[in-house]
Amino acid sequence: MTESVADDLRRIAKGEVFDDEWSREIYSVDASHYSLLPLAVVNPMDKYDIQKICQYSFTNNLPITARGAGTGLLGQSLSNGVVIDFTKHMNQIIEIEDDYVVAEPGIVKGVLDRELGRRGKFLPPDPASSNYCTIGGMIANNSSGPHGLGYGSTIDFLDAVSVVYADGSYGFLSEQNSCEERTTHLLKLLSPYLNVIQSGYPQVKKNSCGYRLDAVLNDRGFYPHKLFAGSEGTLGLVTSAKFKILDLPLYRNLLVLAFEDLITATIVLPNILSFSPAAVEMLDHTAISRQNNAAARPAGCLLFVEFANDDLRDVERRLSLCKDKIAPYCTTIETANDQRSMDRIWAARKGALNNIMRITVGSRRPIGLIEDTVVKTSFLPDYVLYLQTLYLENKLDYVMYGHLGDGNLHTRPIIDISSPSEVQLIESLADRVFNKVIKNGGTISGEHGDGLARVAYIYMLYGEAIFRIFLQLKQLFDPTYLMNPGKKIAKSR
Ligand SMILES: Cc1cc2nc3c(=O)[nH]c(=O)nc-3n(C[C@H](O)[C@H](O)[C@H](O)COP(=O)(O)OP(=O)(O)OC[C@H]3O[C@@H](n4cnc5c(N)ncnc54)[C@H](O)[C@@H]3O)c2cc1C
Repeated sequence: MTESVADDLRRIAKGEVFDDEWSREIYSVDASHYSLLPLAVVNPMDKYDIQKICQYSFTNNLPITARGAGTGLLGQSLSNGVVIDFTKHMNQIIEIEDDYVVAEPGIVKGVLDRELGRRGKFLPPDPASSNYCTIGGMIANNSSGPHGLGYGSTIDFLDAVSVVYADGSYGFLSEQNSCEERTTHLLKLLSPYLNVIQSGYPQVKKNSCGYRLDAVLNDRGFYPHKLFAGSEGTLGLVTSAKFKILDLPLYRNLLVLAFEDLITATIVLPNILSFSPAAVEMLDHTAISRQNNAAARPAGCLLFVEFANDDLRDVERRLSLCKDKIAPYCTTIETANDQRSMDRIWAARKGALNNIMRITVGSRRPIGLIEDTVVKTSFLPDYVLYLQTLYLENKLDYVMYGHLGDGNLHTRPIIDISSPSEVQLIESLADRVFNKVIKNGGTISGEHGDGLARVAYIYMLYGEAIFRIFLQLKQLFDPTYLMNPGKKIAKSR
């Protein structure tokens, strides 16, 4: 079976096809705890290859899963079917203009950053994995990063997408081009539910859970292309995308603050936010102590606060006022306004997850399930206390860090995954934490997506009315459930 599928794919696609054990093993893992062995892996040359592969898979009932760099944290790019790796050939910038860029999905974000930077431009979403993740993966997960606070997530910059659907047909979706047959059906499907959508989504700054219907249809208009942001390759494969880009700010400066405890930092946060920083990032002592270069291992936490603007005096004024206002509650460790110092400081913050992922000892490892919740910042003090108490009561070691400025906390309890009782414990913790977050208007995922790990919780966030729309949406775009099965909507539901 494996051989004949790979042979067929070799006949129809110009790109390379692999079905040897070694290649399949490599693609059977990503940055999650899951593993699924694919049937075959294809490196498509272009969108025509993708159309042919999709037509073939559609006819032969084979699952199709797109893959960028495989840095998804929840098993998004794993599949038992055909995996399509965009990084080898479909990784070019197609067009850069003053206010937009068009690129293929397999381009690494860091490579795009470099090209845009040369022109004094940038695409703001900046995952810590930017040096290796692709923009295809960023769209599919609706990725963000430290500067999500000041600028927003990938969905906010996505202006158009070219896609290949499950049956191999081709589509181009944008605000202006919203009248192709499938988008007309989409509008017809969503329109009666405008009120349900408006009232049924969490009111937080970032959200990667489920499908982002609230960004597709709202009071401002109809934006069919935004459906693909956060959809994890379950509705179609993106073959190119157009993004809004911005001018790089002329001046940035950075403040590093040390608090004796995280709760105090969350209480003081509104004061910091009142000076409109572009980023407020946090490393708790649980994460600092995992840093390779941690000379001292203090209790408490560090906040990294960045201000950015084209007006130097404004940037300096805001930093100075902010520093004075919060001086009674913390110690200023460092201020920086030169690129080198800022890069060094940001590297410490951005390296957090990489360092945390290395702390696996045998079967004890930091488990990413409740690792990406977002709550309103006003609820953060209660929420952090709740999490800390939960960990304490259950005698769990943990790490905590994240994008404090937009209420997006990354936290992982350290669990022995060989122990059924500990695995059960993490599931019961997830139920409790997600219930708390949802009850207080938050989301269970701000930027990492749902993948295999959180697919079962999507219903919990949105409830029956919106989940029913998700099912109809899936029916419209992928009625045979071949596009990245098991993600967003499990067929068995
Ligand atoms: C150390 C580390 C730090 C991280 N830090 C951050 C962070 O700060 N912020 C953040 O948001 N995330 C972060 N992540 C998560 C991850 O890096 C991002 O979600 C990233 O955007 C995934 O990109 P990728 O190319 O690796 O995608 P993959 O993992 O390969 O795929 C992710 C999803 O995209 C789909 N996909 C890929 N290409 C296409 C396509 N052409 N068409 C349709 N679907 C497609 C896949 O099917 C899959 O569902 C981090 C991960 C790691 C390991």
